[in-house]
Amino acid sequence: MALFEQFSLTGKVVLVTGASSGIGAHMARVAAQAGARVVIGARRLDRLEQVSSDIERLGGEVLGVAMDVTDRASVEAAVDAAEARFGVVDVVLNNAGIGNGQRALEISEEDWRSMLSTNLDGVWRVAQCAAQRLVNAGKPGSIINIASILGLRAGSGYSHYSAAKAGVVQLTQSLALDLARNNIRVNAIAPGYFKTEMNDAYFDSEKGQTYIRQTVPMRRLGNLTELEGPFLLLASEAGAFVTGSTIVVDGGHLVSSL
Ligand code: NDP
Repeated sequence: MALFEQFSLTGKVVLVTGASSGIGAHMARVAAQAGARVVIGARRLDRLEQVSSDIERLGGEVLGVAMDVTDRASVEAAVDAAEARFGVVDVVLNNAGIGNGQRALEISEEDWRSMLSTNLDGVWRVAQCAAQRLVNAGKPGSIINIASILGLRAGSGYSHYSAAKAGVVQLTQSLALDLARNNIRVNAIAPGYFKTEMNDAYFDSEKGQTYIRQTVPMRRLGNLTELEGPFLLLASEAGAFVTGSTIVVDGGHLVSSL
């Protein structure tokens, strides 16, 4: 196989959750450009339609599906629709997530449940559903979970988010172990800060910009293009022996000087 062909996703069916904006929408386009047939899932169907149009304009094949990762029936129905259109999903980008900051003393039972239900249970639910179908079909696969540097180190005001993302890191390792014999690889990407709808108001503010300058060794936010390499590595044959890993993409934020 030629060197760069290893990174191709030609012939693969890629499911991206939370593909209606931000990292998910970007990676769905990247997967299509790498040759995959792409299934994009989220709750906001109007936004999915925009992403679908973009991908079709690029010459890609895409299916938009309604999907709420907190709801098993919704996840199963979305994966059914993906299979009916393109066949068994080979690669999952488990990206759907919410991310509001809240001080620990202000988090209600409902806030906690909502965070864990989306950011941890949702990742497990989609991974398990996709893995069951791969195993039944006797096919190899790759599951990529979007964690966060807040799953590896604490930041104030994010106890529920950090706990969920730390769970994603540990879930990734555990699933990698359980699924290795089925040739299903499970890895995570832990992004540092990238401006998306989740955080744009903060990073557009002077406070947000100062925070980045003072805490990120590279003194800037990440560009979504800088997540493409890790994603393609983990999704493609180039990463055939990589499983249970968490790739940190953060401009050095995690190793910032104490
Ligand atoms: P966005 O808010 O732009 O995207 C979040 C996506 O998740 C949306 O498409 C949203 O779609 C979807 N989503 C939320 N809840 C659900 C649900 N219950 N079911 C299905 N989809 C859902 O933010 P980002 O792109 O930044 O976030 C993507 C992932 O990256 C998240 O997991 C986040 O934690 C992680 N991350 C982001 C970082 C950053 O700096 N941006 C840093 C580290 C991690 P819809 O509302 O249409 O359902």
